[in-house]
Amino acid sequence: MTARVIDGKAIAESMCVGLRQRVEGLKIQGIKPRIVLISVGSDPASAIYLAKKEKLARFLGIESVTERLPESTTEQAVVQLIQKLNADNAMHAILLQSPLPSSLKFRRLVNEIHPDKDVDGLTVINQGRLFSGDTGVIPCTPRAVRHLLGTVYPDLTGLHAVILGRSLIVGRPLTLLLLNSNCTVTTLHSHSRDISDICRTADILVSAVGRPRFLGKEFVKPGATLIDVGVNRQDGSGKVVGDVIFEAVSEIAGAITPVPNGVGPMTVAYLMQNTLDLASVGSRVGK
Ligand code: NAP
Repeated sequence: MTARVIDGKAIAESMCVGLRQRVEGLKIQGIKPRIVLISVGSDPASAIYLAKKEKLARFLGIESVTERLPESTTEQAVVQLIQKLNADNAMHAILLQSPLPSSLKFRRLVNEIHPDKDVDGLTVINQGRLFSGDTGVIPCTPRAVRHLLGTVYPDLTGLHAVILGRSLIVGRPLTLLLLNSNCTVTTLHSHSRDISDICRTADILVSAVGRPRFLGKEFVKPGATLIDVGVNRQDGSGKVVGDVIFEAVSEIAGAITPVPNGVGPMTVAYLMQNTLDLASVGSRVGK
């Protein structure tokens, strides 16, 4: 068997056609969607991600502003900036780019963002809404994964989804999102036992571990769908690789996302979609 490759780049491009139309529609109503990206320090991977976000925003006609703060920035200075942006009616969406320098605490700072401007859905309010099954802002990467799964299955009801990783950004919100889609969900982490045995029971296997080429054939049930969230630099070559050993796993899986051009472009597209959602709602309530 050779797995069907789920082309995240092509799916994101077709999604962007609709997003561009939405931007035009908002502009006709007098709404100019705006996002601010806050970056602290000089992480090289962050710089690449920021550039991708700025480029797509420009392409779609969304105004993006990047606040670049030095490594030495204090917690108080970041809080003050976020509070200023919360009060700025022209700004619809705020993203705090991770990782932050070790002197700053991401969870503490992200919770300063007003929940109605929290474009990656990471404040406790939006995480709580997802937990309760209420409408809130859903984090971009889990939304991207859910969308890609929708290209394989019209309905996820009853499927066993195994998620490797329990981070605030990927594993935890994805667990809830797939639970809300009626999957049976198992979430694994670094203390889990019998990982490969559990993974082999999955209809859907999502890896968000952050280890290059961690997941091989022995983790995969024949015909399963593999979503590789990992973006890792391979030792030596510096090449970007996922968590999954793509060549081996595609011999046995039913469908698989590549890295690059799988989850990554969809995550950026959903950042823009969330921005438009916030701009639409924000304008309705007069922010
Ligand atoms: P993270 O915060 O480091 O979380 C990694 C998770 O993997 C943790 O929950 C950890 O368990 C678990 N883990 C580590 N080793 C494991 C093992 N041997 N077996 C099972 N679980 C293990 O990372 P993250 O922010 O979620 O990101 C994960 C990967 O996705 C990274 O490569 C990142 O670059 C990538 N990413 C990609 C996108 C995209 O758009 N494509 C977006 C976000 C992240 P513990 O909780 O026990 O430590």
